Amino acid sequence: MDELQTFRTEVSAWLEANCPFSMRTPPGEGELVMSGSHVEFQSEDQRLWYERMREKGWFAPGWPVAYGGGGLDAAHVRVLETEMSRLRCRPPQINLGIWMIGPVLIEFGSDEQKQAFLPATARGMIGWCQGFSEPNAGSDLASLKTSAVQDGTDFVVNGSKIWTSHAHHADYMYALVRTDNQVPKQQGISMLLIDMKSPGIDVRPIDLLSGKSHFCQVFFDNVRVAAKNLVGPLHGGWGVAKRLLQHERTAMSKFAELNMPGPDLVGVVRRVCADSTGRIGNAVLRDKVAGLEMEAQAQRLTQQRIVEMAKAHQDVFKVVATMKYQMAETEKRSAETMVAALGLQGLGWESDGFSPEELEVTRQWLNAKSLSIAGGSSEIQLNIIAKRVLGLPE
Ligand SMILES: Cc1cc2nc3c(=O)[nH]c(=O)nc-3n(C[C@H](O)[C@H](O)[C@H](O)COP(=O)(O)OP(=O)(O)OC[C@H]3O[C@@H](n4cnc5c(N)ncnc54)[C@H](O)[C@@H]3O)c2cc1C
Repeated sequence: MDELQTFRTEVSAWLEANCPFSMRTPPGEGELVMSGSHVEFQSEDQRLWYERMREKGWFAPGWPVAYGGGGLDAAHVRVLETEMSRLRCRPPQINLGIWMIGPVLIEFGSDEQKQAFLPATARGMIGWCQGFSEPNAGSDLASLKTSAVQDGTDFVVNGSKIWTSHAHHADYMYALVRTDNQVPKQQGISMLLIDMKSPGIDVRPIDLLSGKSHFCQVFFDNVRVAAKNLVGPLHGGWGVAKRLLQHERTAMSKFAELNMPGPDLVGVVRRVCADSTGRIGNAVLRDKVAGLEMEAQAQRLTQQRIVEMAKAHQDVFKVVATMKYQMAETEKRSAETMVAALGLQGLGWESDGFSPEELEVTRQWLNAKSLSIAGGSSEIQLNIIAKRVLGLPE
């Protein structure tokens, strides 16, 4: 048995022994654990699962052990992810710091920043939010206006960020700010790490039609941020942000597969439409399900290819760039197919007359729509693929 296979056997045994059964079901509404100083558990099993994974360093399995991570290389991380997915283990916690700013600090951060933020993030003690979007700067992110003016050893920040997920629970924000407005727009941006307890920060939740929302608008009124919290070069934040967005898109492209177990397409459609032999009778539906399953399988193989390319030190940008778009679109069509199969039972909002799985399908369907906006809309992803992957003219 080769080393990777031995690791797979060990991981699988460890997960079997340590992941409580209730943590092997799709998380219900509001059941994900958000890491940080405000962490809350809704059950003893949630707490146990959180603590066991944290002790293994598996909140951040690919980070160096010195920064509180698991010290695994890409191939071993992949094994852990696939075994968690196979056993349908929930993510023990959610923290943008682990997916996005952590890897960026490992690459661009000062030693002081690494020591101050990485181990505490890997242990779930700092929760992060992302301050990129502004009311007139979403897809056109470089149009952002929130300003940071240097004053002694501080920056003074003024402006506003919008669509900031989980800002009301976050300990820190990694934010893009304008430090120079006399140069072309990409050249005057910097990245700052902002303590959300700083005086002058006002976090206002944004209500959504669904009644539930993790979105906030954040206002900055003369907020002082120590200059040592500048990540990368002054005015050089655009390059840092682009790298962070790559991490964001990679993380998002894995959502469906390993992080957010939800109702499974074949299972749902079979339960509603299969005949006594388990065959989906309706040929159109069967065709759709088979097509989506093939897409999902192709995505899994592509993920595997990315790991192999990374191991061989090949440039994975082009393949990664296609994954976020693919994942979001497949997820949307998969949820639409489940809703179509369930008919009216796929449109429930409250529990009366609907099974938990049916309600979960409705939420998955609604949530899938946001996946093609969050982290860069599908149209923008297509632009990136056209220009930077295929080399098509403007
Ligand atoms: C679930 C979710 C979570 C989010 N969390 C965060 C967060 O934590 N922090 C944060 O900073 N932001 C967050 N966002 C914001 C997200 O990054 C932006 O919504 C996204 O970048 C799109 O920007 P916009 O909403 O301003 O839309 P716009 O840029 O106004 O775009 C509107 C439409 O026009 C299209 N469009 C715009 N420009 C072009 C173009 N050049 N070519 C073709 N089509 C174009 C877009 O694709 C889109 O369909 C989140 C969004 C969602 C949905």
